[in-house]
Amino acid sequence: MIEILSSTELRRARVTGSLVADILQALKTRSVVGTNLLDIDRWAQAMIVQEGAVSCYVDYAPSFGRGPFGHYICTAVNDAVLHGLPHDYRLADGDLLTLDLAVVKDGIAADAAISFIVGDHKPPESVAMISATERALAAGIAAAGPGARIGDISHAIGSVLSEAGYPINTEFGGHGIGSTMHQDPHVSNTGRPGRGYVLRPGLLLALEPWIMADTAHLVTDADGWTLRSATGSRAAHSEHTIAITDHGADILTVPTPA
Ligand code: MG
Repeated sequence: MIEILSSTELRRARVTGSLVADILQALKTRSVVGTNLLDIDRWAQAMIVQEGAVSCYVDYAPSFGRGPFGHYICTAVNDAVLHGLPHDYRLADGDLLTLDLAVVKDGIAADAAISFIVGDHKPPESVAMISATERALAAGIAAAGPGARIGDISHAIGSVLSEAGYPINTEFGGHGIGSTMHQDPHVSNTGRPGRGYVLRPGLLLALEPWIMADTAHLVTDADGWTLRSATGSRAAHSEHTIAITDHGADILTVPTPA
């Protein structure tokens, strides 16, 4: 199903998007050396509840996971990249942490992810990976707009990742979003321009380039949820929810204006 939002719904989507961005920024600030992933999850829960929003994750039970997720945020460290299940782990200097958050507020969902390095030790290869996903995300957003096609976004994202030298996994990518977190159309992180669904004003998309340093293959952790790189190499992920407008594409997961 592909949803096209009304202008009223789009205003609500902007509120949800900013809420997701605000929570991610607050959690990033608190994610320091020694912070436990379970504390990040508890803080996320408290912030979501305080804002009258509902987690998209806590009851999420897709075919590729083991039962309901049961947590409020995805926390992926180092070789973990997607669906990182919060667990009893204290962050160390130089860890590459990805926080991925999706909530619904007033009936509209938003989804975003950030990767960053904890502490003062900044491994250059990790910095480069994060930069590549951020640049790919920006390129994907720049390619989006009314009349453009999904393949234009996929091609823009994939071109940045490939030119930076990273293999691209095609099992998991971006997606439509609206009244629920995951909708059609699927947005692969690589593709051919001029192909696929034609974008229309009112469509929301979550774009999410993610990479592993030296492989496109994932393995599932013993926890039944966390996906890690098959080689143990590090991984990075950047995600925004965007809205197609009459003139282009707006990023919705930006912090609430001061
Ligand atoms: Mg997503």
